[in-house]
Amino acid sequence: MRIILLGAPGAGKGSVGKPLSKQLGIPVISTGDIFRKNISENTKLGQTVKSYMEKGALVPDELTVKVLEERLLEENCSKGFILDGFPRNIFQGEKLDDFLNKDGKSIDVVLNVHLDDDIIINRISNRQVCEDCGATYNKISHISQKPDVCDKCGGHLIVRADDSSDIVKERIKTYYKQTKPLINYYKKRGILVTMENDSGVEEGALRAFAAIEHFKNSEKNDELNGVVK
Ligand code: AMP
Repeated sequence: MRIILLGAPGAGKGSVGKPLSKQLGIPVISTGDIFRKNISENTKLGQTVKSYMEKGALVPDELTVKVLEERLLEENCSKGFILDGFPRNIFQGEKLDDFLNKDGKSIDVVLNVHLDDDIIINRISNRQVCEDCGATYNKISHISQKPDVCDKCGGHLIVRADDSSDIVKERIKTYYKQTKPLINYYKKRGILVTMENDSGVEEGALRAFAAIEHFKNSEKNDELNGVVK
């Protein structure tokens, strides 16, 4: 299956993507993670994207599309993939369609992960991420057993540079202006399912499975775009 996770920053796309990836046996591809890795390794790409990310702005489309397409050509994407954070605007969505259509492929389902903005801001301001494996924690609702140490791999937990409240507000603005129009783009195609992600990581995973199942069991038509609560 080829799946897109849509949603505002902090809505929980990452924590929904991981269990889906395990269940379906396909990789999660996060353009944000690719960029962060390049920044930490101080590559040329990392140096280029850093200033955009620090402002909460989008990295230029040409560059992002190239990075994504190169990743999709890797072998472990042949059975399918879950995109987390791409596309971020209609242009990127169209480029992705062109890229897949060349091989007679297309996106099967778009999971719109929804959470109210005030909860997002609260959630992000308490978020910690493992430097090594990318697992996410929350200082209030999902606390690591040892402070600042990842339960899964023992890595060090950090606060993402772009999770400070001013930058988060900027990222949410960017989402409304550029990314949200993608909801209609996919709705028109009958491949959009929306889930509320307001009840913790485990419940979020269950709702995501249900949303994908709901989609798999439905006919492709205008009535399909569902809401899973
Ligand atoms: P994320 O981890 O998806 O929240 O992305 C973190 C940051 O990486 C964003 O705020 C953007 O600066 C950049 N980024 C990630 N994905 C994209 C994309 N598809 N297009 C442009 N910029 C992106």
